[in-house]
Amino acid sequence: MYSSQVKANAITADFRSDTVTRPTPAMRQAMLDAEVGDDVYGDDPSVNALQQKAAQLLGKEAALFMPSGTQSNLAAVMAHCNRGEECLVGQDYHINVWEAMGTAVLGSVACHPLPVNDAGGLDEKTIRDAIKPDDWHKPQTRLLSIENTKDGMVQPLAYMDSMAAVARDCGLKLHCDGARLMNAVVATGSDPARFVEGCDSVSLCLSKGLGAPVGSVLVGDAETINRAGRIRKMLGGGLRQAGVLAAAAIHALDHHIDRLDEDHRRAATLATRLNALNGISVDTARVHTNMVFARFDDGIALDDLEVFLADRGVAINPDRELRLVTHLDLDDAAIDSLVDALAAFTGAYAG
Ligand SMILES: *Cc1c(COP(=O)(O)O)cnc(C)c1O
Repeated sequence: MYSSQVKANAITADFRSDTVTRPTPAMRQAMLDAEVGDDVYGDDPSVNALQQKAAQLLGKEAALFMPSGTQSNLAAVMAHCNRGEECLVGQDYHINVWEAMGTAVLGSVACHPLPVNDAGGLDEKTIRDAIKPDDWHKPQTRLLSIENTKDGMVQPLAYMDSMAAVARDCGLKLHCDGARLMNAVVATGSDPARFVEGCDSVSLCLSKGLGAPVGSVLVGDAETINRAGRIRKMLGGGLRQAGVLAAAAIHALDHHIDRLDEDHRRAATLATRLNALNGISVDTARVHTNMVFARFDDGIALDDLEVFLADRGVAINPDRELRLVTHLDLDDAAIDSLVDALAAFTGAYAG
């Protein structure tokens, strides 16, 4: 939430997240034109078309339209694990820290957090060491959950394949929290289905860089997706005329994947330009897709940061290390606004 001094309607360049994107006129038209039914009866043609398209895109048997990425991840964890079993997950991955621990609260599934390496991935040895023996004292390890991208960093194909090999070797299911998977796919020029070939389930957000207003898709084999469908109903995620949302998502998959390259190009430019400013540093090697982490020198006082930038039309989440996210509602002029505003801020507030 903005501080009370920020006039939200004066913001023209919002760098807080790629979730802030608004449906384009063409997307709104697709929503208006959508054929709809009742998706709880399974007869919403637009939802069915989206699910078929998503399954095909990621090379899986089936897909389920979900109201959010959080519900998609939770349904996946609950579809793979029974009560009292556990899921191995990176300690600062979304499932472990940003989803109100629904796995434990609603699924009775424990998350066993693993250290995350500098590249944003998990190491094979820590995974093997964390797997519990068949012992009455221990929860049984059922699932390995990875994330791609992680803080905008691509987890490359070789890593995806190595995680699939470990999971297979250890008898674990593999889930990929691919909220921003298409950013990784576009940045690497990979075939999306090949990229997630070894995953038993993948959750993909439609409402981030892809620009749809609502929703995620969960893809996987037919049996897992069927189980996830019951769980989605239990969680209150069975929607009726969801075709208006699915139509936006189909539009996003048709028109907003290739253009992610633009977001990546702008993030790279932003990183280089901010790194050249006095008082701010960016590790440009970590900028793979649409996220830039920009750190203020310790001497700079940040109390006025949010309002200072908002007065110049720019929104950020104020922090010593800013997470800046590029997306389809930000053009080259927005990058200029942010760089100019930060140059003025560091000039005025240097300690
Ligand atoms: C945003 C995000 C989610 C959850 O998506 P919501 O739709 O906001 O619930 C899950 N995982 C990652 C990595 C995300 O960035």
